[in-house]
Amino acid sequence: MAIAAQIAASKHKLHEPASASVTHRNGAWQVDYTLRGDSRGWIFPVSAPKQADHRAWRSEVWRVVTPGVRIERHGAYDVLVADHGSTVPRKVRITFTPTNATLEREYDPAISFSNGATALYSDQFDLVPIDHPATVDAKEAGLSVQDLGGRALPVRFHDNAGPVFVQGKRQSDPILTGAATYVVFGSGEVQTLGGVAILADPALPAWLKTDVSQFAPRVASTYVARLGARSDPRLPLLIMGWRGATPGKVINDGGVRPGEIVLNFEGEGLLERNERAARRTRWFIAHEMAHFWLGSEGVAYSAPSDAWITEGGAEMMAYTLLADADHEYVIGELQRAVDDCVKLGTKPIAQAADRHESRAFYACGTVFALAASGVARRHGGSNFFDFINPLLTRHQADRRLGGTEWLDYFDGLNDDKHAGDVMRAMIQRGSSQPLKDVETILKSGDVPLTVTGNTLMLSSAAI
Ligand SMILES: [Zn+2]
Repeated sequence: MAIAAQIAASKHKLHEPASASVTHRNGAWQVDYTLRGDSRGWIFPVSAPKQADHRAWRSEVWRVVTPGVRIERHGAYDVLVADHGSTVPRKVRITFTPTNATLEREYDPAISFSNGATALYSDQFDLVPIDHPATVDAKEAGLSVQDLGGRALPVRFHDNAGPVFVQGKRQSDPILTGAATYVVFGSGEVQTLGGVAILADPALPAWLKTDVSQFAPRVASTYVARLGARSDPRLPLLIMGWRGATPGKVINDGGVRPGEIVLNFEGEGLLERNERAARRTRWFIAHEMAHFWLGSEGVAYSAPSDAWITEGGAEMMAYTLLADADHEYVIGELQRAVDDCVKLGTKPIAQAADRHESRAFYACGTVFALAASGVARRHGGSNFFDFINPLLTRHQADRRLGGTEWLDYFDGLNDDKHAGDVMRAMIQRGSSQPLKDVETILKSGDVPLTVTGNTLMLSSAAI
C-alpha cells in the first residue's frame, strides 16, 4: 500500500510541468526554476533581439546564480545550459534587472513607471526542454512554446511589498501559465474611461491620456461594428508608459497582447500637445487594436513568415478607419508602404524577420491588403473589412490563417490567378522587378495610380 502510494506520487511528479517563481524584494529581482527531467538545454521562447542593435537582451540583464549553469545564445534563442554539456540541474536561480528595451516583434520584457512601479511581461520566464542545444541554431525566429514542442510554465509572481496587479485586479502571488500579460509590481491605478481600462504612468503628459481615452473606444466600436465582438469579453487594457522628457526626442512604440496594448512614450516633444504625435498615437492604437481581431487574439497567422497577413492587415484596418478624418495622412502612409515594398521586395518577404527587415511585412502586407480592398469593392464590398471579415469567419474554429489560404481566397475573387502568383513569388523568392510587380498587384484591385519612370504614385482616390 505504502509502496503503491509512493509509485503513484513519483509518477505524478514525473508528469508535473516545470515551474518558476519570480520574487521582488527591496528592489532586487530573482527567478527560481524547478525543472523536471534531465535535459541538456532549456530554450527561452521569448528571445527576440533588441530592435536598436539586434543583440540578445537576456545576457545583459540576467545573471545565473546557480554554479555551472549559464545562458548561451543559439541562433535566434537564449538557451539555459550546463557546463561540459551535462544536464541542467533541477533547481536554477537567476537574478535579473527588468529591462524596458524594445524588442523586435516581441513585447518588452518590462515597463518601468516613473513612480517606481514595474510591469513584467509574464511569458519571458517560459522554458522548453531540448535534447541538444546545437539543434536550436537552425530554428526559425519567433516560435511559440507550443511550436517548440513544450507547454507554458506555471510562474508565480511574488512582491514583498504587497499584492501585484494582473488581469484586471490586485492579487497576492498569482500563478500564471502562458498568460501573455503584464504583471504590475508597485502602485499603479487602473482607470476605466469610456469603455477601455487605462493604466498610465502618473508622469505621462495629460493630453496623451485624454486623447487616447477618447480615441480608443471609438476604434473598438468601429471594429466591433465591422468584424463582430472580440473573443475576449474583458475591457481592453491600455498600459501607457512614460520614459521621460528626453531632449530632442519624440518616441512612441509598444505592442499588443491578448486584451492589452502597451504604449511607451518618451521625449521633450511630447510635453505639449502636437498634432504629429497625436496622429501617430491614433495610428498606433488603430493598428494595435486591429490585432485583437487579426493577430494576437481572434485569428492569428499560421507561421511567423506569414506576418505580412497580420501586419499588413492591421495597417489596412487602421488606414481604413483613419481615412475619413485624416485622408491626406493615410494616402501619405500608403504611398510610403508602396515605396518601401518596392525597395524591400527584391528579397523574399517570408524571410524578412531573419534579415531584420520586418518593415517588409508591414509595407508589402499593406500593398497586398490595398489590392484586396479593391477586389472586395468589385464584389460589392466597400473596403478592406469586406475582404478580411469572411476570412476571419472562415478561420474562427482553428484561429489560424496562413498565406496559402489568404492567397487562394484572393484568387477566388479575381478573374485569374496572375496577381496572386506575383504575390506568391514575392513572398517565396523576392522580385527581380518589384515596381512592375507592385503595379500588377495594385491594378488587380483597380487601385488608381500612375507610374512615371521609377516611381509609382498612388492617386488620392486609392482609399
Ligand atoms: Zn502590428
